[in-house]
Amino acid sequence: MINKNVFQNIKNDVHLESNLLFKVLKMCCCNPSFDIRCTCWVRNNDNSKNKEFLKCPMRHETTYQRIMNDYKYYKIIEKSGFNAIKDEILKITKLTTKDWDIIVDIYKKYKAEDNE
Ligand SMILES: [Zn+2]
Repeated sequence: MINKNVFQNIKNDVHLESNLLFKVLKMCCCNPSFDIRCTCWVRNNDNSKNKEFLKCPMRHETTYQRIMNDYKYYKIIEKSGFNAIKDEILKITKLTTKDWDIIVDIYKKYKAEDNE
C-alpha cells in the first residue's frame, strides 16, 4: 500500500521551497492558470505595496481585469473610451506606456471576441 503521507510531505516540501525561492528572488508566482483574483496587483491584500507587481508576468492581464471589474472605470470607458483612464491607471500601477499598449491590445482582443 502506498503511504499517502509520503506524497503529502513531498508536496509540502516542494511548495515550501518554491515559496522560499519566490521570496528570495522577490518575484511573485502568478501564471496564466491562476484565477485572476489570486494574481498580484499594485496592492496586496493587507493594502501594503506590492513591490513584485512590476515584474509580474500577469501584470497586463491582471490590470485589464481589475479595470473592467471596477464600475467607476467601466463608466468612464463607456463614455470616453478605454484610453480615457490611461493616465490614472499608469499613475496607480507605475506601469509604462509600453505596458499600456499591451493592455489596450488585450482590451481590443476581448472586445472583438464579444462582437463575434
Ligand atoms: Zn504576480
